[in-house]
Amino acid sequence: MYDLIVVGAGPAGYTAALYAKRYDLDVLVVGEDLGGLCNEAYIVENWPGTKEIEGNELMDRMKDQIEDLGVEVLQKRVDRIEGEDTFSVHVNGKIFETASVILALGADKRRLNIEGEKELVGKGVSYCVTCDGPLYRNKDVAVIGGADSGLKAAMLLAEYSDNVHVFEATDELKAEKIMIDRCRENNKIKLNCGMAPEKFVGDKFLERIVFQNGDEVEVDGAFIEIGSVPNESIKKIGNRKITRDEGGFIEVSPGLSTNVEGVFAAGDVTTASNKMRQIVTAAAEGAIAAYSAYSYVGEKDA
Ligand SMILES: Cc1cc2nc3c(=O)[nH]c(=O)nc-3n(C[C@H](O)[C@H](O)[C@H](O)COP(=O)(O)OP(=O)(O)OC[C@H]3O[C@@H](n4cnc5c(N)ncnc54)[C@H](O)[C@@H]3O)c2cc1C
Repeated sequence: MYDLIVVGAGPAGYTAALYAKRYDLDVLVVGEDLGGLCNEAYIVENWPGTKEIEGNELMDRMKDQIEDLGVEVLQKRVDRIEGEDTFSVHVNGKIFETASVILALGADKRRLNIEGEKELVGKGVSYCVTCDGPLYRNKDVAVIGGADSGLKAAMLLAEYSDNVHVFEATDELKAEKIMIDRCRENNKIKLNCGMAPEKFVGDKFLERIVFQNGDEVEVDGAFIEIGSVPNESIKKIGNRKITRDEGGFIEVSPGLSTNVEGVFAAGDVTTASNKMRQIVTAAAEGAIAAYSAYSYVGEKDA
């Protein structure tokens, strides 16, 4: 019987395990993809205390740190979780019992799924302006997506880049009027509607975007901002549905508890941290959720 099982082996899951272990809880981490989304982050430049580190290297270090403390990390998918007072976590035919659970399932950036996209990720194509924007200082960049996140990305990119072209596939921008006005007032930002990308072209690095209407635009970088898709691999605990918002993100309290007692959530999969989906916020949520799980287990034992 574990005190805590953490589902997810990204920054939220690993940090939750780190804190929980230091609170002396008996912890198991089960994660399908060890390292999580961070493995895709080519170079991370915003993890405090480390000027530059490859995403997978950072995650290997987090894993080493918790394993050194004695946390067991299992590379497997959790199929389902049953139980009410205590929980049974089903993993590939085996069952692990635990007093509490942290769901650190992550979210994925929505992809365009067009030619050249996969090949050029980290080579001009990016899903994270906060992470990669500073790499495009004095360059020409594109933002794909004209909703709020796209225009926010454009405003941020205009701090670094010379020309920021926003491309919205439909005939109108979907962002708040105030954001549209701000972008219109910024002479570095050019807003374009009715421009759906067909493919990204580049040999070693992105060179241009070809659009469905036949237009081509030369840029050094393209930021895809068409939303995030939360991981919904675990929707219920027993028969109780985990409450999610309309976008599928798990609704949490300030202490990161879910609607199911004893089940907490952390990282990109939650509605917390103002939905700022970053390594540092995922890690912070992991720490908070671990503290809540520790308090919960302590109260149960008392
Ligand atoms: C290309 C790219 C670059 C990025 N660059 C940066 C950057 O430079 N700086 C930054 O701060 N952020 C960056 N990010 C964002 C950052 O990667 C995420 O915010 C962070 O990884 C979220 O951590 P998480 O632990 O919440 O989720 P994730 O890292 O997504 O981890 C989720 C974990 O849950 C597991 N999981 C899901 N379902 C199950 C299941 N049923 N059973 C078992 N395991 C399961 C997954 O396998 C995975 O281990 C980048 C993102 C992308 C896509």
